[in-house]
Amino acid sequence: LLQLYAPLNFLGFVYREIKHSLADMEKMFTLLRQNTEIADKPDAVALQTGNAVIRFESVDFGYERNRQILHDVGFEIPAGRTLAVVGASGAGKSTLSRLLYRFYDVWQGKITINGTDLRDMTQESLRAHIGIVPQDTVLFNDTIYYNIAYGRTGASREEVIEAARAAHIYDFIEKLPEGFDTMVGERGLKLSGGEKQRVAIARTILKNPPILIFDEATSALDSKTEKGIQAELKAVSTNRTTLIIAHRLSTIADADEIAVMEGGRIVERGRHAELLARDGHYARLWALQQHDESPVA
Ligand code: ATP
Repeated sequence: LLQLYAPLNFLGFVYREIKHSLADMEKMFTLLRQNTEIADKPDAVALQTGNAVIRFESVDFGYERNRQILHDVGFEIPAGRTLAVVGASGAGKSTLSRLLYRFYDVWQGKITINGTDLRDMTQESLRAHIGIVPQDTVLFNDTIYYNIAYGRTGASREEVIEAARAAHIYDFIEKLPEGFDTMVGERGLKLSGGEKQRVAIARTILKNPPILIFDEATSALDSKTEKGIQAELKAVSTNRTTLIIAHRLSTIADADEIAVMEGGRIVERGRHAELLARDGHYARLWALQQHDESPVA
């Protein structure tokens, strides 16, 4: 039996490796598929700016030909400012971030950065200017160091550590048995939702992009973690043109501007206090959420 153990154990190892490689490949192909529909124009220019003004002008868009999702969406985010988008599930909030990253092209209207249409710039330069903190950060099956350093190839160890400190995940990492060399991801240590978001924030700090997209997690984090993430986010978004896709209104009460979406349209825009005073869509959402969250508080 003992003689059988080693080969069987080895086979098990091979099986697990193949299964994980397939999962990784699947992720890669999903990403590649999303990108193949979009091609650079032969004369596409490289976006080069540290101060990005983002404009959506009368944007219509749908994922499928016969199902329009966005209707005549228009807004401007001045350089260094924050726009938070709120609205019911399915309203089209995350679609805005996918269009800004140019996973898809708009049907009508245009999206510009400093006046240049996204379709006239190279995708590589566009994406180099945008940092995304997604709802659910995918971690590579590698060390936590690699997962942060991925934000910018060529970053020094000091810079990686500095980014971890700024994202307030340094102390957590230092307490791990192997510190920054601890393996994470599906095959390693599983991180909580809040810890994963901090890794994504650290990556973004390292990347240092002029544009930031923050897609807030739908599942609530515990309130202490939530407050911490909000504080870190505020620090990272300072002086960066930021689009926040918000699921909890408490996150965005101090955003420069709030846009309320309903059925793929922007139905209200303004600051928190103005919108509450208007007693319209936002005020209703706010009242609803106060009611929903009251048992938790
Ligand atoms: P949530 O708050 O739940 O994240 P959301 O406001 O961000 O919702 P979107 O993700 O922008 O909503 O989706 C808007 C609409 O587009 C939804 O009806 C959704 O079903 C549809 N949709 C999103 N992604 C795709 C896709 N890849 N293919 C087809 N339809 C899609």
